[in-house]
Amino acid sequence: MKLVFATNNAHKLQEARAMLEPQHQVLSLSEIGCCEQIEENGSTLEANSMLKAQFVFERFGISCFADDTGLEIESLGGAPGVYTARWAGEPSCDENNRKKALKELVNIDNRTAQFRTVITLITPDFSTQVEGIVRGTIATEEKGMNGFGYDPIFIPEGYDQTFAELPCEVKNSMSHRANAIKKMKEVLTNL
Ligand code: IMP
Repeated sequence: MKLVFATNNAHKLQEARAMLEPQHQVLSLSEIGCCEQIEENGSTLEANSMLKAQFVFERFGISCFADDTGLEIESLGGAPGVYTARWAGEPSCDENNRKKALKELVNIDNRTAQFRTVITLITPDFSTQVEGIVRGTIATEEKGMNGFGYDPIFIPEGYDQTFAELPCEVKNSMSHRANAIKKMKEVLTNL
């Protein structure tokens, strides 16, 4: 199936293509000529993911999916959650966000956290939402060069390296987005 991934994030696009191709063709927003900034003003990951997918489907009429991700830190009551992208202020800055996370957790023993992704899939026949979670801990310093966002400070459960230190194939086998994409792939297979 031909699917648009409603994202401008090249890392996310690469992750999705690695998991969905060749069975499905994944097009980027620029490949369909969508240059507009999509508003993300929902109050939940579910709402933001839906907003992005609906925006593309209503304007372009092509089957599409969109994701929205939150980092949920246990000792901070699940923050930053839906505010993960702009935690350290706007415009969104990955480096400042990571610094903020490390600062918020100084002297805090419980560094347990999870990434949660919600994907909305819309086709002409139906729409659905799937969720993917990966649990882990927030490191005490940045490590690694791979990936993006909070990857240098997130250590997934069962590993002793951050997402940014692990090879991208490892992240793609068990990350929050990988888990959500696997579920979406099952939905597409059962169509
Ligand atoms: P969004 O889903 O693109 O809006 O991302 C929300 C925030 O989560 C941004 O600050 C991203 O950098 C961050 N983020 C999303 N996915 C990942 C990931 O796989 N690793 C690290 N950070 C991520």
